[in-house]
Amino acid sequence: MTGALADQVAVITGSSRGIGKAAALVLAGEGAKVVVNYASSSGAADEVVKQIEANGGEAIALQADVSKADQVDTLIKATMDEFGRIDILVNNAGITRDTLLLRMKPEDWQAVIDLNLTGVFLCTRAVSKIMLKQRSGRIINISSVAGLMGNPGQANYSAAKAGVIGFTKTVAKELAPRGITANVVAPGFIATDMTGDLKNTEEILKYIPLGRYGQPEEVAGLIRYLAADPSAAYITGQVMNVDGGMVMH
Ligand code: NAP
Repeated sequence: MTGALADQVAVITGSSRGIGKAAALVLAGEGAKVVVNYASSSGAADEVVKQIEANGGEAIALQADVSKADQVDTLIKATMDEFGRIDILVNNAGITRDTLLLRMKPEDWQAVIDLNLTGVFLCTRAVSKIMLKQRSGRIINISSVAGLMGNPGQANYSAAKAGVIGFTKTVAKELAPRGITANVVAPGFIATDMTGDLKNTEEILKYIPLGRYGQPEEVAGLIRYLAADPSAAYITGQVMNVDGGMVMH
């Protein structure tokens, strides 16, 4: 397939649904061969692959719990066996276990840290070995406005998402000498399954200057820019929000 990402390979964690799915479709549209990673939704992941193939692109679905080191290693090995290189990593997989601090169980804390922070470390470490040899690569880590401003009920989530920001800045400095960039995309409230159960929509909208939830495609647009645009080669270690104006730096 032709496009800015022809012959390039993108691994997108958690791309069976939501923001990851939108990113998979947009990067495939730029010509990338895409790995659609998922935890349990094999049917949904297969649908994403079918949609990409129907548009003339190439993709495979690979199951892996990216909070587990051995499964991450298997995921990256399977990607290399299939496609032989990795040019783009989007660390997107994430969960919430929301509850107020006093009610938060250690397992609620640990599950969110394990996937949303340790998962980012495990995937980045595994892929960076390959990118260092290739002397190129773009890493895009999905954080959240919760990691910048805090959010009641999300002590675990905001700690993990703030951790992703510090982690990415360090990775950006370590990998820059080989031309590899690492940036953070921080969404606000985006209409996906993750936000589908929120009851206090009216209250939330008061804090969004643009007065609405964002769409997954609006986050994917920034991911596309950071992954595919030649001029993004000089952007690294940055945090960019897609949040309708919730947090203004
Ligand atoms: P979502 O619709 O709930 O989708 C989550 C994705 O992560 C699914 O593909 C899911 O796979 C995958 N996943 C879950 N656990 C996994 C694991 N252990 N290993 C691998 N994949 C796993 O979420 P989303 O709203 O698109 O969010 C995507 C990212 O954006 C997350 O990091 C989230 O924290 C962040 N974010 C979202 C919002 C928002 O408002 N939606 C705002 C700020 C930041 P299965 O389908 O197999 O479960």
